[in-house]
Amino acid sequence: MRSFLPDYAIQAPGTLAEALGILAAEPGAWTPIAGGTDLMVLFNAGRLPGRRLLDISRIYELRGIEDDPSRLSLGSLITYSELLEQRAVHQFFPNLVKSARATGALAIQNRGTLGGNIVNASPAADTPPSLLAYGAEVQLVSVRGSRWVPYDAFHLDYKKMDLAPDELVARIRLPKPQGLGFHFYRKVGTRQAQAISKVCLAAYARIEDRVVTELRVGLGSVAPVPLRARRAEAAVAGHPLEALPIEEARRAVLEDISPIDDIRASAHYRRVVTGNVLAQMLTELGQSRFTPGHP
Ligand SMILES: Cc1cc2nc3c(=O)[nH]c(=O)nc-3n(C[C@H](O)[C@H](O)[C@H](O)COP(=O)(O)OP(=O)(O)OC[C@H]3O[C@@H](n4cnc5c(N)ncnc54)[C@H](O)[C@@H]3O)c2cc1C
Repeated sequence: MRSFLPDYAIQAPGTLAEALGILAAEPGAWTPIAGGTDLMVLFNAGRLPGRRLLDISRIYELRGIEDDPSRLSLGSLITYSELLEQRAVHQFFPNLVKSARATGALAIQNRGTLGGNIVNASPAADTPPSLLAYGAEVQLVSVRGSRWVPYDAFHLDYKKMDLAPDELVARIRLPKPQGLGFHFYRKVGTRQAQAISKVCLAAYARIEDRVVTELRVGLGSVAPVPLRARRAEAAVAGHPLEALPIEEARRAVLEDISPIDDIRASAHYRRVVTGNVLAQMLTELGQSRFTPGHP
């Protein structure tokens, strides 16, 4: 049943200090709302937990982009449309561009935020695999201070995060890839757009002297949380581009994942497709030509 708006209280602080004070006074009582694209679906269905909303969308400290030579720091309120306008995102993080384009349609891209996508913690969300592949870190703030958490340690279990009830995600920081790199993003869904992924894989590989010195693979929709394919990564790192152990990596990735059957796909389908997309990525990696300075 639809929710009844007058049953809800809402506060819309203009500063971060004010918002953190409200959260600290009654930890867990207030639900932060940014773009509202996930929360309003729950509201419409009468399934929004709690009756008090903390509208954080006006907090200027959660906005803005800091672009320095070694990294990019994005305010958690950045929308998909804003991400797509950033030259540095296109230049250094093309997987993030592809994931933003693959998210919903224009209305969702105009309102939905990167911070909301992270904290909604859907295993099928589109940006987490890219953030994992790029070694992102998230900044969590509260009245107690600020801390940075590697994004690959943030999701603990299904919808459980290293995020206290009085904390907000303030920024997402991405180290800029240096030297020669390879980027890959593939969302497998029923349609190219406006479909929740059945399997999503993002990868970034660093190449030196035609050897893969580092590989990071982020996966979505194949476990209770978005996760790094650590075993597959380890199977490939250190190998020359001419002799990538594709079949070994395909076997290893099956150890990394724990997919379930659901309405979108069977666990078996997800296992086969994850192996196939990984093999596709490694085949493209092996055939790639790299240009210094251009990811
Ligand atoms: C029609 C439709 C299509 C969609 N398509 C896609 C898709 O293709 N891919 C995809 O990944 N998602 C999709 N979504 C989901 C949604 O749009 C995204 O997850 C979006 O990024 C959520 O951001 P938001 O700001 O709207 O989050 P909100 O709904 O405002 O919040 C989501 C959660 O995050 C918390 N939160 C938000 N910001 C913060 C913060 N800074 N600190 C702490 N907690 C915070 C909220 O309390 C809430 O729990 C779709 C949604 C709809 C309605």
